[in-house]
Amino acid sequence: MRILRFVTTALLTTLLATAFCGTTRAADADLVIVHARVFDGRSEKLRDDAAVVIAQSKIVAVVDSAVAPVARERIDAGGRVLLPGLIDAHVHPTIAIAISSLRDTDPNYLAARAAVEARGILLRGFTTIRDMGGPSFGLKQAIDEGLTDGPRIFPSGAIISQTSGHGDLRNRTAESRRFGGAEDPVERLGYGRIADGTDEVLTAVREQLRLGASQIKLAAGGGISSLYDPIDSVQFVEEELRAAVRAASDYGTYVAVHAYTPAAIRRSVEAGVRSIEHAHLIDETTMKLIADRGVYLSPQAYVFSGVFGGASASAGTSAQALKSQQVSVGLDRMMQLAKKYNVKVAFGTDVFGSPKIFPWESREFGARLRWFSSYEILKQATSINGDLLASSGSRNPYGEAKLGVVEPGAWADVLVIDGDPLADVRVLEDADKNLRLIVKNGRIVKRNLQ
Ligand SMILES: [Zn+2]
Repeated sequence: MRILRFVTTALLTTLLATAFCGTTRAADADLVIVHARVFDGRSEKLRDDAAVVIAQSKIVAVVDSAVAPVARERIDAGGRVLLPGLIDAHVHPTIAIAISSLRDTDPNYLAARAAVEARGILLRGFTTIRDMGGPSFGLKQAIDEGLTDGPRIFPSGAIISQTSGHGDLRNRTAESRRFGGAEDPVERLGYGRIADGTDEVLTAVREQLRLGASQIKLAAGGGISSLYDPIDSVQFVEEELRAAVRAASDYGTYVAVHAYTPAAIRRSVEAGVRSIEHAHLIDETTMKLIADRGVYLSPQAYVFSGVFGGASASAGTSAQALKSQQVSVGLDRMMQLAKKYNVKVAFGTDVFGSPKIFPWESREFGARLRWFSSYEILKQATSINGDLLASSGSRNPYGEAKLGVVEPGAWADVLVIDGDPLADVRVLEDADKNLRLIVKNGRIVKRNLQ
């Protein structure tokens, strides 16, 4: 045993020396977190008394604490659980105020508000997000450059929508650009892009790719926050959807769609879409289709659990509250079907619209307990989401390492928490109190360990 340990240490030392290209001190890691019970993002069994070894921005080893190498900084997790940084697969940091107010607000104010929400997201333990619509390219750049604290961002850019689709946020009387109307301020700000016909859809997709989109978001059916598209409306004809998928796949990435109804979901899946956002009104045949095709289901439980009725006074109109109810009735059945067909369920919260709503992001954990175990929910928010994000292929902005797992070669995005999230995932709902350590990209963002 002792010999084995010696050999392991020797191997590790070599590994770390290599990682440090020329550094002469043995086992010179930047950060080692010892005495942790590690959830690796995939296995239900925690690894006891482990040490996570970090060099620069990556995890280089996970070893027994007893053989943990010397590091520039050593943190004792004190037997607490260490887990991968969380991933929110559906959130809108740049829609930080009510959608109806976007057009009348100074873009600099919007950017400042988005930065505040991005920091809040990170402090709730989400070290990575998939932005499902909004101009987050600059926010991403500022975070990546270290100008402001926030999660890694997989940006979609503008939500691409047909005229009168979910991403068409113009005033009712506005005229189409095609018929001489002016470009809408919400389009100009990069929140939505209206495109009709395959030519315009191709341009709209390529515009977002040019800006740096890691995946493309289309609205394929009626939505709640948009005023003039009934929930049951099916949006974009087959040719338009296929054109979008083709333009995205030519750039090595995929299309995600907003869709609630079976008709909208089926049309999208048949066109090659890889991620269905929401899907609350799905039926059994369509859920089976998603399972067969290996498409990701990206549902939300908390914001569709009836809370928008109460929040509608600040978040929208009574018509929107009505649409929200129309969709929420499908929640229970959708989740049951997702379980039945063992669909790949992503973890996304869809929070946006006001500083009051963003903290609801953490409530998604508890809301899912009705259908999933704490372990299943944790896996959704870590490794399953990590796999989903990897679908961005060559457009993955963080493609040189893995996300959502704690293993050698993964990004050094980890959390240390009080309580056992595998026994009760709701410990993540009070991040302020329970998250004792947040490390993103190898850098300590929050530390509150004795
Ligand atoms: Zn959304």
